[in-house]
Amino acid sequence: IITPPPPVEHLSQADLFIAVKTTGRYHRSRLELLLDTWISRSPQQTYVFTDGDDDWLRKRMGTHLINTNCSAAHSRQALSCKMALEYDTFLIYGKKWFCHVDDDNYLNIGSLLKLLSQYSHTQDIYIGRPSLERPIEATEMLDTKEMKQVHFWFATGGAGFCLSRGLALKMKPWASDGAFMATAEHIRLPDDCTVGYIVEAQLGVSLTRSALFHSHLENLGLVSDIKNQVHTLIQTDSLLPNTVLGVKSVIKVVSLLFTNQVTLSYGTVESRRNTVNLKGSFSANDDPTRFRSVHCLLYPDTSWCPSL
Ligand code: UDP
Ligand code: MN
Repeated sequence: IITPPPPVEHLSQADLFIAVKTTGRYHRSRLELLLDTWISRSPQQTYVFTDGDDDWLRKRMGTHLINTNCSAAHSRQALSCKMALEYDTFLIYGKKWFCHVDDDNYLNIGSLLKLLSQYSHTQDIYIGRPSLERPIEATEMLDTKEMKQVHFWFATGGAGFCLSRGLALKMKPWASDGAFMATAEHIRLPDDCTVGYIVEAQLGVSLTRSALFHSHLENLGLVSDIKNQVHTLIQTDSLLPNTVLGVKSVIKVVSLLFTNQVTLSYGTVESRRNTVNLKGSFSANDDPTRFRSVHCLLYPDTSWCPSL
């Protein structure tokens, strides 16, 4: 039903640099879940950027734990300090793609590789989910102390996003060796907006929108909802409205779709849980984020997943 475009570039995990942003107080409550699930499938590609040392996490991650020495505050400066280091570290490691996720994201590496294979890392690619319905407006402070309005799209950091190496190299004047924090101050916006500003407003490259990235700003129940997914397929002309599908093929289409998602997340809205809705291997009590159940759906051979 859905024929993906042929790959432009053959990619393997070794071509990726994945940065996870976290903070000291979330090491146990958030990061451990990621280490048990998706990071266990790509430990060589994944680097965790945090703000304090932690013997327990150091033992589990070794040199893949990067203590940024950025402040542990949730301030604009502290967050852009981490993003700046993620970017600088990517440049040093020489990988083809930079991908950023938060510590409440599940990353499906297989889907990510499929998606990025549709592009060349030498092209200018900035891909993710825009967090707003329209471009953000920012005020630039010019050297002449004049103020200038700028409009641009940005990919929300909470859903994860990726940059090709080709584009990342062009961002250097605004992003490398301390420039990123200065740029964030210049427009007085958070780290993910700053990336959008550099890419769209300074370099004139447009954000590639992908519906495969998800943050907890969305209703995550819809991501795993059969009707909603088929509806989306029809709307995007990937499925004809009157096709008669057997129950088995519907289930297949949907499981395919769910397992095609690149990132997921979880959160709470008005004290109610916002998670993907998956019957899964574990109860909501044992697996409140649903990430363990998602992981067992993707990798049923995992030692702690119930046997088939
Ligand atoms: N975070 C951080 N320092 C802080 C608070 C949060 O680095 O003081 C990180 C956190 O680990 C996560 C991201 O920022 O990767 C977003 O934080 P959170 O999910 O708590 O907030 P949201 O913005 O999604 O509501
Ligand atoms: Mn979050």
